[in-house]
Amino acid sequence: MEKFKVVVLKSENILGWRLKIVDNKTVEIRAGLFTDWRKVIKEKKDWIEKRLKKMPEIKKINELDKLVILGEEYKVNITMGKNDSLNIFEDKKEIYVRSKRLTEKYLKKLIDKKMRPMALKIIREEVNRLAATHKIRVGSIKIKNQKTRFGSCSSRGNLNFNWQIILFPNDKFEHVILHELTHILVKNHSRGFWEKLKEMDSNCVQNNRWLKREGAKKFIV
Ligand SMILES: [Zn+2]
Repeated sequence: MEKFKVVVLKSENILGWRLKIVDNKTVEIRAGLFTDWRKVIKEKKDWIEKRLKKMPEIKKINELDKLVILGEEYKVNITMGKNDSLNIFEDKKEIYVRSKRLTEKYLKKLIDKKMRPMALKIIREEVNRLAATHKIRVGSIKIKNQKTRFGSCSSRGNLNFNWQIILFPNDKFEHVILHELTHILVKNHSRGFWEKLKEMDSNCVQNNRWLKREGAKKFIV
């Protein structure tokens, strides 16, 4: 038995086979009608397992019992209710989620939608603070749907962020913002860019390494 799930898509339009890693527990194989997909999976097992290990772990929202926001731990209570709501109690460090449905998909959508305004407020404050410190002029600041990216900067200096960067530790959160602020000055990732960023973040290399390795793993939706 494999330790991962195999999704088989048989199609007469495919000759041979194609593998795709879906998440850290699922591999998809598209195979022609006469392809022995079991044999392919068996032969490629080592390669598949190596790739699966590199994928971020999928978190079950249903089982979400705590959330760390900028290093502060919040207890999460999810209950079924007549309406959808999400309340954050700063003093008690608790988050109450009420949802009409408790399915994974529904809860993810709800949390995604309700957390955005709060995240935007935190991100905006931090962007403005850091921009003022480093005397950088910023355009608009928005939250954008970006599954794997943490942030982006338009040619006009408008910044977009993935709201879930608030789930990073404080210094990593700050690093993401400084990265995008630096792009207002230097568009590409040239040597000049990194020099500028290092001036603002003395722990730049380590922070960047952490983000590449751990960043996406902190995302919940
Ligand atoms: Zn960049």
